[in-house]
Amino acid sequence: MKRVYNFSAGPAVLPEEVLTEAANEMLDYNGSGMSVMEMSHRSSVYQTIIDEAEQDIRDLLNIPDNYKVLFMQGGASLQFAMVPMNFMKNRKADYIITGQWAKKAYQEAQLYGTANAVASSQDKTFSYIPDCSDLPIDEDADYVYICENNTIYGTKFKTLPNTKGKNLVADVSSCFLSEPMDVTKYAYVYGGVQKNIGPAGVVIGIIREDMITDDVLPGTPTMCKFKTHADNGSMYNTPPCYGIYICGKVFKWLKKMGGLEVMKQKNEEKAALLYSFLDQSRLFKGTVVPQDRSIMNVPFITGSDELDAKFVKEATAAGFENLKGHRTVGGMRASIYNAMPYQGVADLVQFMEDFERKNA
Ligand SMILES: *Cc1c(COP(=O)(O)O)cnc(C)c1O
Repeated sequence: MKRVYNFSAGPAVLPEEVLTEAANEMLDYNGSGMSVMEMSHRSSVYQTIIDEAEQDIRDLLNIPDNYKVLFMQGGASLQFAMVPMNFMKNRKADYIITGQWAKKAYQEAQLYGTANAVASSQDKTFSYIPDCSDLPIDEDADYVYICENNTIYGTKFKTLPNTKGKNLVADVSSCFLSEPMDVTKYAYVYGGVQKNIGPAGVVIGIIREDMITDDVLPGTPTMCKFKTHADNGSMYNTPPCYGIYICGKVFKWLKKMGGLEVMKQKNEEKAALLYSFLDQSRLFKGTVVPQDRSIMNVPFITGSDELDAKFVKEATAAGFENLKGHRTVGGMRASIYNAMPYQGVADLVQFMEDFERKNA
């Protein structure tokens, strides 16, 4: 068996320990004589799996009792519609446009009401986070929306926007559980798990109880109401059972690692190694202003499309996979999520040094 260093933005690297455990339990989960994939979601064995998963993410993030944890499907992209369907009471919301995912959410919201772009960093190819300390927030805005870590462009909000008292809604898909987060600052926060937590097919939402209501936009499908999922313990219908089981294993792995303070420290160390190399390199350079750099997604370029392509090709051959930048921006991007070991980043930097020596 050969494992590569996988720098994919998502679906992405998972802890090897978790994969091994899942493999060992594939044919017979915990004496049940069946795989979790084959199990009724109404069984007590499965109920324990989802209950423990919920408790473990509550412990990791210190989620207060007045927030519900929802396990849903449809990817982050369905959330782009569910957010306005559930929260746009006045049919008005303010969006901060820091990349393609924020923009898609903003465009989707326009199907349901007036979505205002109150700030944007599109003028400089989303290479920074705009100043959000004093935005023209609409008096009637139902919420203010951000994409907290911009997977494609490699920026991250280091301070949350001043919403002037409005509810904050955030997509944290690519920074979920990478560091501690103060859940009380958000009315609703969600993420697709395939970036930093588990297999594609699960979205986790953390919602403040007063945001859960039957008062949704007319025509909202039952499956798109947060209340449906909240009232039924994420089991109104068959949940993505196997995916939730893997997420649960990752939560236990995170706890064993020491929790999110420790993960933050490890993630900062990995990111610092790569950024400090980029900052002194004669060939490679980062594309994001230093103060807004993500510690999860690190885009970089050589300045030459041919050299970029050569680098990606040679890196792949050397066992560093999925370093090609997003199809809309080009260049390279190293996604260094929780499960990427320090050694993976150290070896990548070594490889980049060698490449620079030969090509600069
Ligand atoms: C990947 C990603 C999405 C899209 O997720 P899907 O599950 O494919 O819909 C949305 N937002 C962010 C921040 C992402 O990284």
